[in-house]
Amino acid sequence: MTIYFDMDGTIANLYGVDDWLPRLRSYDPTPYVVAEPLLRLSSLARLLNKLQKKGYRLGIISWGSMNAPNFYDEAVAAAKLFWLNRHLPSVAWDEIHITAYGIPKEETAEEPDGILFDDNKGIRDAWMGTAYDVDNILEILKGLI
Ligand SMILES: [Mg+2]
Repeated sequence: MTIYFDMDGTIANLYGVDDWLPRLRSYDPTPYVVAEPLLRLSSLARLLNKLQKKGYRLGIISWGSMNAPNFYDEAVAAAKLFWLNRHLPSVAWDEIHITAYGIPKEETAEEPDGILFDDNKGIRDAWMGTAYDVDNILEILKGLI
């Protein structure tokens, strides 16, 4: 079983970055770099490492920016990988997918009937497995151990 995480609005507070939208519209990748964590990532990492030892796989499925040209999708993907390495360095992800905006996540996932945490209701509704909103991520993960 794979546990997938969205990034923006789920583990990374992109929407709390000053002027995030105009900066994205001008193809600035730094809001993705400086976004603050939305939960205690040391706790998240500890739980994820325990779950992986129990046999769960771990994945990221995150979109780039809306209406982005290829060069900006690439810059955003690099920024998101930087964020993951900086904030969750001890997590060995089994899958990381940083795709263009709007690509159905159930088509991106290697295991589309896995578990997904995502703040976007439309994505959760389209997901084929179990999808959770962002409340109580740590408590839900504890329940899987
Ligand atoms: Mg999101």
